[in-house]
Amino acid sequence: MKIKFALIAAMIVTLILCSCSQPEEYSMDIFAMDTYMSLMAYGRNSEKALEEAAEEIEKTEELLSVTRPDSEISQLNENGFLENPSDDMLYLVKTGVELNGEVDGAFDITLYPVIQAWGFTTESKNIPTEETLVGLLSDTGVERVHFENGITLDDNTKVDLGGIAKGYAGKKAADILKQYGITSALLNMGGNIQTIGAKPDGSSWKIGIKDPQNESSLVGSVEIIDKAVVTSGGYERFFIGDDGKRYHHIIDPKTGKPAENGIISATVIGDDGTLCDALSTSLYIMGTEKASEYLNAHSETNAILVTEDRTLYITRGIEPVFKPLNEYINTTINVIG
Ligand code: AMP
Ligand code: MG
Repeated sequence: MKIKFALIAAMIVTLILCSCSQPEEYSMDIFAMDTYMSLMAYGRNSEKALEEAAEEIEKTEELLSVTRPDSEISQLNENGFLENPSDDMLYLVKTGVELNGEVDGAFDITLYPVIQAWGFTTESKNIPTEETLVGLLSDTGVERVHFENGITLDDNTKVDLGGIAKGYAGKKAADILKQYGITSALLNMGGNIQTIGAKPDGSSWKIGIKDPQNESSLVGSVEIIDKAVVTSGGYERFFIGDDGKRYHHIIDPKTGKPAENGIISATVIGDDGTLCDALSTSLYIMGTEKASEYLNAHSETNAILVTEDRTLYITRGIEPVFKPLNEYINTTINVIG
């Protein structure tokens, strides 16, 4: 009897200890898509799940990297067609084309020749002449992409999915973690954050939004659960020209030049990381006025815009969970959407 009692007591203690101890946690750092990524997951199978999620990110990079000659996108650009595109490629090219109309042309996957001329995909940065840009822009436009037999491109047209690829990779990685039963994870992929569920204790993830003018500081933070938080900023990739000017990688399809329309950082928060990624790039390019108009007309999109005069525009849906920090504590917040 005494032994039985001792056994039951020991079992109860074990149970209490188990329920109080931290859940299994696994994290890994990888370098993919030109970015240092830090992946963290909690719960059973987190190690195996993260390893597979990382493989998925690398697989997406292999598919979409314009600098790898063997990638599917390079094949498309080199041959001008893909008879049997993978489901991923077809989905992304179609999404890119559809979004172009949604955002009044700001998001344009056919800008690749212009991006090449600036040298953003290689290490030979260059300021193209006005004449070069006008010439290259005449062969851009999503109407030059066709879907009759797989994917076909008009002559001289090339596509780049760099504005959407990381969001898509994050979403695919999140799907894998969910298949493994993971209910709590944080994937930090540079300017792209993908969360799965809440923190292990059930509370929200607190995600910092970088100050685009001071990378060691934050504009503020947002508290979210099971969402993607994607930021586009000119500070992420740029070079200083011989004229001393900064030239960044987010190109205005109207001019073929780095967008300078008042916004210096655009963050989109939502359920679909792919869409958040495309929209953050688009809002950045649209600039303060057009982006505010877009957000006022699309109350389902949540965003945080930082302008060059350090004003904040925050949509109604995200404002309650946004906390300004540092120099932005006393800034006027314009609530839109
Ligand atoms: P993101 O960091 O998501 O804003 O994406 C920037 C990347 O998207 C660039 O490095 C280019 O590869 C690509 N890109 C630049 N301008 C555009 C544009 N207007 N539309 C679509 N993609 C673009
Ligand atoms: Mg983007």
